[in-house]
Amino acid sequence: MNHSVDSEYSSFNPKSNKDSLSIDLLSDLPIELLSQLKEVGFLSLKDVIIEGPLELSTRSGISMDDSNFIYNQAITFLEDIGVMEMRFTPATTLYDKRKRIGRISTGSQNFDKLLGGGIETNAITEVYGEFGTGKTQLCHTACVMVQQICSQGGLDGGALYIDTENTFRPERIETISKARHQNPIQILDNIVVAKAYSSSHQELILSESSRIIESQNIKLLIFDSAISLYRSEFLGLSSLSLRQQRLNKLVHSIMRIAQTHQIAVLLTNQVQSSPEAGFGNISSKAAGGNIFAHSSTYRIFLRKSNRNRIARMVDSPNHPESEALFSIGESGITDPQRNNS
Ligand code: ATP
Ligand code: MG
Repeated sequence: MNHSVDSEYSSFNPKSNKDSLSIDLLSDLPIELLSQLKEVGFLSLKDVIIEGPLELSTRSGISMDDSNFIYNQAITFLEDIGVMEMRFTPATTLYDKRKRIGRISTGSQNFDKLLGGGIETNAITEVYGEFGTGKTQLCHTACVMVQQICSQGGLDGGALYIDTENTFRPERIETISKARHQNPIQILDNIVVAKAYSSSHQELILSESSRIIESQNIKLLIFDSAISLYRSEFLGLSSLSLRQQRLNKLVHSIMRIAQTHQIAVLLTNQVQSSPEAGFGNISSKAAGGNIFAHSSTYRIFLRKSNRNRIARMVDSPNHPESEALFSIGESGITDPQRNNS
């Protein structure tokens, strides 16, 4: 095949048309091929980017060469209309964009400062720590905060909460909303919850998430937790490489979703029991091995400190290693009260 994206689309405004990113826009492709792709679930150009050429070829049965070609066509189209970064971009343009990048407040000014202003869009923020350190509370608070207008620390959007531990609690959303003077019903209305029962179910949910993200104006995707189902299903050394393979695929899909939909991803992770930690000491090693270490944009370790909690930035492309003190209260994640340390 040898087609190019028609230049008539270069001035195309994706916001002007709800179906604007349908794969029909690759109008040089044969109609039968487009139907074949749609039949196996590739309805929009974003689906093509998120799933990648290998998945495109596997699911549709087309050759890898054709699949790579379609994938590159989809990227070129999205670059042309400004949905994706141009492949050669001056660093000054990137810097201007970075200054305007969307962020969601955690609920605590200290914690926001650690993150450079809040949970960033187009990126994966991974939070890990022992039980009770506040990972789930942060997820609940972020669901409320994302719905605020920009000047109040939000992005005026909804949240998609993938719950693998059965710990999402609408009543907790209600208390956090009330404590923050928000209407709980309206806040709950803008949170979509998907309970995942197995690792493959989690992957299925993720593969179907694009449509929800678009139709519900989702700006925050949460995985609480990202890895627990994999840890419970893939036991022992013999299944380790298969588990890492699956996790690798998962985190890369998550990253492509963050970037193509320009949303924030918040995922929680567990700590790995470590012999070095010894009795009574806390392990500060995240589970998931190298896969998560390399794929998360920001990694934050949470630990308890008397009645408060400490968040430590342990890996970031642009932040130094530093710490922030925060607290958990009626309003979710907050700054510690003066008499609360
Ligand atoms: P796990 O690894 O078990 O999932 P976690 O890090 O997700 O743990 P969270 O559930 O986020 O832990 O935090 C639990 C903490 O939050 C507990 O210390 C609990 O007291 C506190 N907490 C829960 N609800 C409230 C509330 N309404 N007001 C104040 N604190 C609360
Ligand atoms: Mg939890």
